[in-house]
Amino acid sequence: MTDKNARTSLKISELFAENVYSDAVMKQTLPPDVYAALRRTIDQGASLDPELAEAVAESMKNWAIQKGATHFTHWFQPLSGITAEKHESFIAPVPGGRATMQFSGKMLVRGESDASSFPSGGLRATFEARGYTAWDCTSPAFLKEDAAGVTLCIPTAFCSYGGHALDQKTPLLRSMEALSKQAVRVLRLFGDSETTRVTTMVGAEQEYFLIDRDSYRRREDLRLTGRTLLGAKPPKEQETDHHYYGALSETVASFMAEVDRELWRMGVYAKIKHNEAAPAQHELAPIYATANIAADQNQLIMETLKKVAAHYDLVCLLHEKPFEYINGSGKHNNFSLVTDGGENLFDPGKNPAENWRFLVFLCAVIRAVDKHAGLLRLSTANASNDRRLGGFEAPPPVISIFMGQDLEEILSHIKSDRETPCSHGRTLELNVPTLPTIVSDATDRNRTSPFAFTGNKFEFRMPGSSQPLAETNTVLNTIIAESLDDIATRLEMAGDFQSEVREILKDILKRHDRVLFSGNGYSPGWLEQARERGLPIIPSAVDAVEILRQKQTVDLYEKYGVFTAEELASRYEILLESYTGQLLLEGRTLADMVERQILPAGNAAAAELAAWTDSLGAQQSAQGAQLRTMRTLLDGVYDGLAALRAALGEASRSGGVKARAVCAHDTLLPAMEQLRAVCDELECAVPADRWPIPTYAEMLFQD
Ligand code: ADP
Ligand code: MG
Repeated sequence: MTDKNARTSLKISELFAENVYSDAVMKQTLPPDVYAALRRTIDQGASLDPELAEAVAESMKNWAIQKGATHFTHWFQPLSGITAEKHESFIAPVPGGRATMQFSGKMLVRGESDASSFPSGGLRATFEARGYTAWDCTSPAFLKEDAAGVTLCIPTAFCSYGGHALDQKTPLLRSMEALSKQAVRVLRLFGDSETTRVTTMVGAEQEYFLIDRDSYRRREDLRLTGRTLLGAKPPKEQETDHHYYGALSETVASFMAEVDRELWRMGVYAKIKHNEAAPAQHELAPIYATANIAADQNQLIMETLKKVAAHYDLVCLLHEKPFEYINGSGKHNNFSLVTDGGENLFDPGKNPAENWRFLVFLCAVIRAVDKHAGLLRLSTANASNDRRLGGFEAPPPVISIFMGQDLEEILSHIKSDRETPCSHGRTLELNVPTLPTIVSDATDRNRTSPFAFTGNKFEFRMPGSSQPLAETNTVLNTIIAESLDDIATRLEMAGDFQSEVREILKDILKRHDRVLFSGNGYSPGWLEQARERGLPIIPSAVDAVEILRQKQTVDLYEKYGVFTAEELASRYEILLESYTGQLLLEGRTLADMVERQILPAGNAAAAELAAWTDSLGAQQSAQGAQLRTMRTLLDGVYDGLAALRAALGEASRSGGVKARAVCAHDTLLPAMEQLRAVCDELECAVPADRWPIPTYAEMLFQD
């Protein structure tokens, strides 16, 4: 290592987590007994003594103030999908007209705010406008710096007066508890007496686009809706693979370096960065972390990408499908289950006994994913991700699991009780340690599967780039907890443990192996095959949302204490309302742009061409033909606009929350698409210098 590199790495280790109220800081600043009690709460979920909170608050305040903080905020994730914060200064009056800095245990542990403007889906009547935030001490507090100064952010859960969850974090934490409990039960049956907790670990790959700020400012659609509602196909798309993993431009490299630094300072292990497949598309992945911390940190990542982009006159687009014709952006959710002893339960292990345990956890996932495919699909459903799924490089709206050929072969042997050697001449008897090699050899890297086993973790590729991680992982935890519960119950009653394990695996595979698919998920034949297998195909969020009302869903969530029936009903309302709201916004924005930008530009270009053709007396020439084409297109735009306005009227009127969403999907969306198509044709007919908004080529190919 050169001196320069040595200096750089020293700097990183110094700056890493400098803005985090980390374990090291706690250890240093808290009295030993307080530190030990807090660790017990963090590690084992023991309840927190209020007196202890007082001491923690004092240490946290001193640390934050010494770092320049003037304010604190309870930082939470309401159901709008982004984070919320209300800054409060530490300031408190003292006699003599002076001020002191105050922060108590009560202020740390609980906050109260007028929350009537956050989505609640009917859970909080407007007369009961209070919402409560409660400290999540398992996710570390941190400092945020901006132009205004430094703020201490305390990750919190958010609930109503009646205790209903109004956020993403509460159900996630509940589901992690449920999963841990059932996983430990299964481990006990395997003779593990030491593990007391099993934790969901999540590492999410975040995709995003960067475009220049000037183009963004001139596109009303991007500013208001996050995606382009218009734009003809550029001459160049992503047919060449030049961008993927390509060298970073100077600007993007500087941007990414600053993002890394900012994230490191806030304790996020930002690890991987590269150019993605589509032009102007990039990716960032941190090292995996405990699910609720990963979910919090993903919010910080998204926020930081947006904030830092502004320093480079760039804008970061987190929408799932900002541009038609090219890839959309996802958020691949890598997850595994890890014991408090550090063992990854999806790791095939080094000996046969571990292999069987691995197979049990693997089959628990297979059962869960097949049985509750709809819930998984639902966790990725919103108006923007609907546009991405089934498009280029994005999984189709049907859930299947990729296991790789070798593992699938092993599973099929278990299913049919065959003891014959499987691939590589190995057998699957208890006394033959086969799995490690087989799995590590696995052919993998099937990029077309929505849910892929990748050696020691599963990668769920359906979630969209703007979606909070909490939703998907809440579903995964709960459905796997249910499978493990079922398995544990059977094993507890079994006579012979080993043969019961085999029976369970066999039963699961017989019932659920239809969900295994290692072929090409993008091939047109797959949807047909999936239909034949009886796998649910759920193209839109409007269809997916009904799953929330099914008895099976309500029973599942109530059984594991993750959602109450009321909470689920509220989420049903919120999803539909936000779906319709998003589409209405898009429809209105498109109508506005067409009326005030596209039509004037098209009409002016047509008038100019008409005058010129007239002056030449060239009505019958090629120019005359071009003019007629342009006029036909303009007629089409007028017609399309009228149809869009009618659809907008219908979607804002029609009936209840579901009827409005259905109308938005069935009537408004096609009207928008039709109008777009003719506008895009018009774009190709109007002189470049007359086109009023930046084109795809201008936005996507800048360096
Ligand atoms: P890919 O080949 O898909 O790019 P990577 O190895 O780069 O996969 O990992 C992608 C993400 O998966 C990273 O965030 C990484 O930390 C995370 N990851 C790796 N191992 C695990 C694991 N055992 N559990 C959860 N996430 C993991
Ligand atoms: Mg990946």
